[in-house]
Amino acid sequence: MERLLSVVVSVYNEEEVLEQFYREASQVLAGIPWDYELLFVNDGSVDGSPQILNRLAERDGRVKVIHFSRNFGHEAAMIAGLDHSNGDGMVCMDADLQHPPACIPQIVEKFEEGYQVINMVRTRNESAGWLKNLTSAAFYKLINVLSDVHFEDNASDFFAVSRKVAEVLRTNYRERVRFLRGYVQNVGFKRTTIEYEARARAAGHSKYSIRKLIRFSVNTIVCFSNLPLKLGIYAGLFAALLGCVVLLYTLFTRGGAPSGYATIVVLNCFMFAVLFLIVGIIGEYIAILFTELKDRPIYLIEDTKNMTEN
Ligand code: UDP
Ligand code: MG
Repeated sequence: MERLLSVVVSVYNEEEVLEQFYREASQVLAGIPWDYELLFVNDGSVDGSPQILNRLAERDGRVKVIHFSRNFGHEAAMIAGLDHSNGDGMVCMDADLQHPPACIPQIVEKFEEGYQVINMVRTRNESAGWLKNLTSAAFYKLINVLSDVHFEDNASDFFAVSRKVAEVLRTNYRERVRFLRGYVQNVGFKRTTIEYEARARAAGHSKYSIRKLIRFSVNTIVCFSNLPLKLGIYAGLFAALLGCVVLLYTLFTRGGAPSGYATIVVLNCFMFAVLFLIVGIIGEYIAILFTELKDRPIYLIEDTKNMTEN
């Protein structure tokens, strides 16, 4: 029986590029030796994207669509796609053509060679400004220092996994606050990387605001590292040492003028700053614990098109 490739595409307000994406992707997919399905996950778009997707699904039976009940975020969309696709291999990619469909035949080749996880690593990012490239590089440095698991620099949300790995992601990685590409890189299995050049966005604009990116970075650090929690211990040791030094200094200068008011104020402010920072960090961890505890769904599906099951 011919093998099936599922291409999972997350869509949030992408009306300007969807048709072009569909054309380019179908053209490439028609040339691969596997059968394919194109599964679009509409993450609560509020523009014309849902209508365009429904139209594509009517025209082409290989196009499947999942409509979320509201915006649940890019990661949730990819997870829904992995949950509901039937392929022997699955590719997750963006709809804005920054992830070139032309790479898909290479991915299929790697699957045929027996690889289970294929990470796409970008060599150049045309669309991101220098600031985004710099902060992204700094983020990967930091997370690699803080976390026990290793993250590939420049790994993107463009990756492919086999049915077996998708099954692992479906059953064992259901955290509410998550970093999917981190899991994909750390499940093990036979894995490889393929390099690609990220193109500029075909049309429309990025849906990730600076605020979302900061939130995302903080969540990732909290999810993959317990080191910040231990800062309190280091700060405590440091404060104890500082106390000893001040004590000795006071003892030795006994009888001299009492030390300055400014010193006290500065020391006070500094110690409180450290204390509040640590309380804030603990707060981040508690917030995530609370979110996990509530166990709310990762996404809610309102409607589907061309889906056989569910
Ligand atoms: N996306 C999504 N939900 C969101 C934000 C984005 O499904 O809440 C999709 C978006 O349509 C695109 C992909 O995720 O296909 C990547 O988003 P974007 O291109 O805006 O991010 P960037 O490439 O700028 O990091
Ligand atoms: Mg993009």
